Formats: sequence, C-alpha cells, structure tokens
Amino acid sequence: MVSSLPVTGHSDVAELRSYVGGSWEGGATVLDDLNPAHPSEVVAQVQAADARLAADAVAAARAAFPAWRDLPAPARGEILRRAADLLEQRVDDVSRDLAREEGKTLAEAAGETQRAAAILRYYAGQTLEADGETYPSASPSTFLYARREPIGVVLAITPWNFPIAIPAWKLAPALAYGNTVVWKPAELVPVTAVHLVCALVDAGLPAGVLNVVLGRSSVVGEALLAGPVDALTFTGSNEVGRQLQLQALERGTKVQLELGGKNPAVVLADADLELAAEQIARGAFLSAGQKCTATSRVIVERSLFEPLAERLVERARGWRLGDPLDPETRVGPLASAAQLERVTGFLEVARRDGGEALAGGEPAAIDGGFYFRPTVVAGLGPESPMVRDEVFGPVAALLPADSYEEAVALANDTPFGLSAAVFTRDLGRALRFAKEIRAGVVKVNQESAGLELQVPFGGTKASSSGSREQGKAAREFFTEWKTVYVDPPPP
Ligand code: ADP
Repeated sequence: MVSSLPVTGHSDVAELRSYVGGSWEGGATVLDDLNPAHPSEVVAQVQAADARLAADAVAAARAAFPAWRDLPAPARGEILRRAADLLEQRVDDVSRDLAREEGKTLAEAAGETQRAAAILRYYAGQTLEADGETYPSASPSTFLYARREPIGVVLAITPWNFPIAIPAWKLAPALAYGNTVVWKPAELVPVTAVHLVCALVDAGLPAGVLNVVLGRSSVVGEALLAGPVDALTFTGSNEVGRQLQLQALERGTKVQLELGGKNPAVVLADADLELAAEQIARGAFLSAGQKCTATSRVIVERSLFEPLAERLVERARGWRLGDPLDPETRVGPLASAAQLERVTGFLEVARRDGGEALAGGEPAAIDGGFYFRPTVVAGLGPESPMVRDEVFGPVAALLPADSYEEAVALANDTPFGLSAAVFTRDLGRALRFAKEIRAGVVKVNQESAGLELQVPFGGTKASSSGSREQGKAAREFFTEWKTVYVDPPPP
C-alpha cells in the first residue's frame, strides 16, 4: 500500500491523480506503475492526464504567477524550508515507495530523499541572498540598479532515475526565485512525484504555484510546451531533449537540457589500485548504472590493466543483486523491461564486436524482475556502440592505454562531456587532466558519479545545453536581469 498520499482507489492499490490549480484531477485512462523487482506487483495506478488537463496546468501556473512573484522571497523560502522538514519526517515512506517503483536500493532511495530535502533547504536559504546589484551611472542624478526577476511559468520535465533529487533541483530554485511551475515527472515514478508535491502543498504552497501532470508524454507533451511556457528545464535522453529544444526554440522559450553521458574513469600507472577499483565499481554498478554520471568507460594504463580488471570482476561478481528492499542488496533491478532489453542488446552487439564479458554480461533470473548482472567488458575498440553510446546499465567497458596522452585522447573521444574521473597519486597530473578533459564535472580519486548540491552541475558537448543547474548557478536559468534607471523628479 502506498503510504500517506492523497489517493483514491480500491483494494490496496492507490490511484494517483495530477495536481492542477490546487486540486487533484483524474482522467479516464489508467496506467499501472510496476515494481521492477517483481513486475507482477502493481505499486500504484495513475489516472492519466489528457492534453486538456495539461493545458489547464499551464493556465493555472500562469494565473498564479503574479501573486507568487510578488510574495516576498523570504516568505517563499519559508515554504520550501517547511517542505524540507516534512520530507525528512516522511523519509521512510518516501524512500520505500521510491525503491519499490524505481528499483534502486532502500539505502540509495533514503539518501536521495534526504538530498531532496537538503536542496529545498539550500534554496530556502538563497531567498535571503542579494537579488541584484547597483552600478555607478554616467549621469550624476541617476540611481542605476539591476535585479534578477523570475521568468514566469517554468515547465520541468524529469526522468525516472533520480525521481526526487532531480525534480527537487529544478523545482526548488524555480519556486524560490518566484516562478510558477508545471512539472511532468517520468511515467515510471508517479508515487515519488506525488510525495514531493504533498510535502510542498502541506508546507503551504498556494494553489496553482506548482502543477503536476501525470500522464504519457505522447499525450501531454505537446500541450505542455504549447501552453505556452516561458522556460523549459529538461533532464533525459539526447533524442527527446534535442526534439524539445527545437520546439522550444521555435516558440522562443528559454531552454536548459541535461542529457546523456559516457563518462570515463582514467586509471594512471601510479594509481592506488584498491581505491580505483572500489570507486570505479561504485560509479559503474550502483543504482544499476542508471545515472547520467555513471562510469561506463574505464581507460587503464597497460601495466595496471590485468590487476584492475581482476578487482572489478571480483566486485561485479560479489556485490549482491536482489530486491531493493532487502538491506543486504547492493544492486537492484533495472527500472523497466525496456531498460533490460536495451542493456541486453548492447551486450549482444559488444560480443559481435569481439568484446568479452569478464563478469556478468547477462540478465539474472530473480523473481521475474528486470535484473542485469554487474558487467565488465574487455576487448572492444573505440568505435563499438558499447564504448560510444550511453548504455544506462551496470556495465563498465575496459580500454587499455599506453600513455597518459593516449588515455586523455581516448577519454575525450566521445560526443558527450558530463563527468570524468582520474586515479593517480600525482596531483600535478591530476590537475593537468582536469584541464585537458572536456567534461563539466571532474573527480580526482573519486567515482564519476555523486554530486554536491552547492556547486554548478552540467556537462560540455552533447551532454548539456543552456546554463548550469544547482548551487548559485541555478539563478542564471530561473531568473532574468531587469535594469532600472531612476532619476528623482526635479525638486
Ligand atoms: P528516459 O530514457 O530517462 O526515460 P526520456 O528522454 O525518454 O528519457 O524521458 C525523459 C522525460 O521526458 C520523461 O519524463 C518523459 O516522459 C519525457 N518525455 C519523453 N518524450 C517527451 C515529449 N515528446 N514531450 C514531453 N516530454 C517527453
């Protein structure tokens, strides 16, 4: 049973609805939300929104904008702070539901929920920061200032892999800086979405300020963008992101995209092997590799190739695969049947390309769930799809390099540029790598995944578009400058 949510429904399966203009609105089509660890288990059902409800959501956000913009920023911050407190109080319920519908482990789900609360609290604090600057004017009588103002109605479209942290890092700054929001969460994770909405609504968010549209993107996507909205912040696949970016540009809508990654970990000959193996395994296998910052290419100086491969294989075989709710589980299932098919397909192609799975390489039959074994692949050339494309599964592809220079060249040989890790005892080398790698995030002796919330996040090349997310950098996207010239009237 889904806990503490405003649901309808019969038996013990909750029925969720969209939240539009301050009320929960249903629809005629019902979608099942499945548990990827036991796909016969329906976690919840969703009364899916239609295009008309999506349009209503944009209209509600538009109507609520002037009053929300005019509320003093610290009062907006108070609501975010209360929502953070509520999420923390509800962390057990939220993380259990998150693990059940998305498949990451309970510990990961709890960490993610705590992170969402911390993000809400951070942006609550930002509402007390300076919101502009004064400038000297060329005219002696002019008071000249510029301030950041909200953009208006923000459309947030989010993926399933971090179903509460990613929405929090879009919604919290959007709301803190005075925008109203229409949010379309991924179809796979509606319960987590409703938990976040409930925390904000119970904290006192006025009607219409946040509207959540639960439904199929093919049904509601067009109506949401055509709303019209003033800004679109999107995290998801390159394919969908680019398509939405084109639509947004045609309409003059401001766009921010966080897309895929093909993140390298470079292991130099002087690296601490145990540290490198542990961090790379974490980056590649935790959350079943379903992170845009996951490590997917491991580029190793040749002298360490065999010993590092051995250590990765040991972890891939040893880390326990199983039900996310079992505290012994280290790696849960993939999020959906489509994901399982995708990852399995990559392995088939890799084998055809001459790749060898040193560990894993196949699904695991556990309770009919969408499990894929943590996998280490060697023997692939740089052109193989497993090395070029985002897999989004627990798979590390090993590539040897004969020098630092070759390692960096291989690491940069990708259309993506989200995050990158380097393992070395030579900090001079590490800083050179940080300069030479084309990535938005660089980790030295740390896994490529894992972010702190107070610093900018985003990628280079095909991984991102528009300004950075998180930290103070978020202000760039969610506000715009207004410059004011004030001459006092003559006495
Ligand atoms: P993922 O593989 O992570 O699901 P997608 O890019 O397919 O990545 O989806 C990311 C988000 O974008 C999800 O919320 C999805 O429903 C939404 N989405 C997909 N296609 C569209 C579309 N045409 N219009 C609006 N939203 C869409």
